[in-house]
Amino acid sequence: MGVINLLPEKLINQIAAGEVVERPASVVKELIENSIDAGATEIIIDIEDGGRRLIRVTDNGSGMTREDAILSLQRHATSKIREKEDLFNITTLGFRGEALPSIASVSNLKLTSIPDRSALGTSIHVEGGKQLEACDCGGPVGTSVEVRDLFFNTPARLKFMKSNTTEVSHITAAVTRMAVSHPYIRFKYNQNGSTLYNLPAAKDLLARICSVISEEDTSFIEVSFKSNIRITGYISGPEINRPTQRETLIFVNGRFVKDRVILHALMEAYRTVMEKERYPLAFLFLEVPPAEVDVNVHPVKTEVRFRNTDEVHRAVYGAVTEALKRWTIKKSGVGTYGDTPFQHYEDRVNEAIGRYASTNKLVPFSMKNPPSTPFAKVGILKSPPFKKGDVGGFSYEKKGFFSSLNVLGRAGGTYIVCTSGNDLLLIDQHAAHERISFERLKTCLNNSTPSSQVLLIPETLELNTSEVGLLREYIDNLAKAGLLIDHFGGNTFVIKAVPTVLAGRDVRGLIKDIVDELAHLERSSTLEKVMDKLLSRMACHSAVEGGDSMDRLEIAALLHDLDTVDFASNCPHGRPVFVMLRQTEIEKMFGRR
Ligand code: ADP
Ligand code: MG
Repeated sequence: MGVINLLPEKLINQIAAGEVVERPASVVKELIENSIDAGATEIIIDIEDGGRRLIRVTDNGSGMTREDAILSLQRHATSKIREKEDLFNITTLGFRGEALPSIASVSNLKLTSIPDRSALGTSIHVEGGKQLEACDCGGPVGTSVEVRDLFFNTPARLKFMKSNTTEVSHITAAVTRMAVSHPYIRFKYNQNGSTLYNLPAAKDLLARICSVISEEDTSFIEVSFKSNIRITGYISGPEINRPTQRETLIFVNGRFVKDRVILHALMEAYRTVMEKERYPLAFLFLEVPPAEVDVNVHPVKTEVRFRNTDEVHRAVYGAVTEALKRWTIKKSGVGTYGDTPFQHYEDRVNEAIGRYASTNKLVPFSMKNPPSTPFAKVGILKSPPFKKGDVGGFSYEKKGFFSSLNVLGRAGGTYIVCTSGNDLLLIDQHAAHERISFERLKTCLNNSTPSSQVLLIPETLELNTSEVGLLREYIDNLAKAGLLIDHFGGNTFVIKAVPTVLAGRDVRGLIKDIVDELAHLERSSTLEKVMDKLLSRMACHSAVEGGDSMDRLEIAALLHDLDTVDFASNCPHGRPVFVMLRQTEIEKMFGRR
């Protein structure tokens, strides 16, 4: 007898569910997609218990007849494609006909649908893939799908569910993507009875973006680009940025996608104008001829395959660069995109040295006729980030080293230029300050000796519901570092005191960054790693910006503080605090060696 069996339908559906329904947010996404495909102008999403207890999506779309409603729960039942050719010209979000049966196989599902005003509606109840009943019902035209007890019959899946706050934050992300890509649809999103979004049909995309993201419309630059690929949408000016890519949303032919080529092109365009490890806000819509893109790569459909990735990269890079140029010209009256003050780190160091060299007449050439070997090519500036005990043979353990430096001045608005004997040193004032703050915060945390400054007028801050849980989890640990936050109730927090190093800084911006960081944590991170990340965020907020002016006394204080820092400890961002040019290296550059 053979060993190969045909699997029963129910098991097939459960296997498919493993791919389509990864977590509650995937159910939410699939159900909203169906509502949009059904032409709904109003979609209501209700969530209870992070989607474990209830996910309900109600729409005012076309509804289904009884016959269709029963069919819709069967595998590969779809109204959206009929034949092979249709696969290459998909205009709907769904087309595989597997979402509803997959979801129904791992939950208790109730589908209620009324096709038009006169007709009687149908209500179908399915438990773990087994249809229990179909009966008549009445109500407004449209469809409501209620999913309860998700994964109740797949214990392995159930175990993989994360905390409610994590699941809610994924659900919110899914709703946000749908809301941004369909501004003219009204969305209402409730969580345990409280409303997270109540978005009326927006007048345009920008209005919708601003109502789901807490930013002003003036923060955005319009993108509008036409080649074989059309690109529209909005990106933020470089001064509005985030520590993560949570608010970088890319849509291809109306579908949210995660695509490395597109993200890479976007970041390339920002490379010279944005700080490292910061990300723009971006809402980009690509319209690619359907024959040029395959959306049927993965059951959840967030991956696509382009026929010509180079073309896509070029288009996105071109679109974003063009928008950023327009923005700089508008802002400053000159085309400074790619020039100061936002140059790439290495360029800025180069320039700093260049300026230093020319003002101090150390070099016998005019900067107008640079030597054939530019500095960067000599390789001295590509100093690697600090490694334990190794800074290019330089002994940083020497006591009082930084205080003993001879300060010549500042260059490039950001670098303190010093000499140590015959060697030349450039210190990045922002990185230095950041490092000092980080070490201080860490010492406070480790010794449980927080040093805070109480705010005269406590600041209040509203977070959205998914963020509330995230912040609450870390309130006690943040307090140990000197950041005292009270949960006032509901979505409101009160910031009562800040670590001394953060006195006078923008605390709300800081908390927003912290929450953003928390939303992106690997759940497996140890507490220590998490706190390191949070402290490094705080340190970054405390630090003087590159470009802030510093007088002699402040420079002296900074150098003195640098002497108290344990450089052997891990650097928060891995960026160098200083680079050193040894005399021998300088001599080599001038052909003396
Ligand atoms: P797909 O969306 O890939 O076609 P689904 O399993 O998600 O597959 O849905 C199956 C079918 O059920 C759809 O093709 C559609 O005809 C119907 N359907 C599902 N949800 C709705 C809804 N909210 N309103 C109207 N029809 C729906
Ligand atoms: Mg679908």
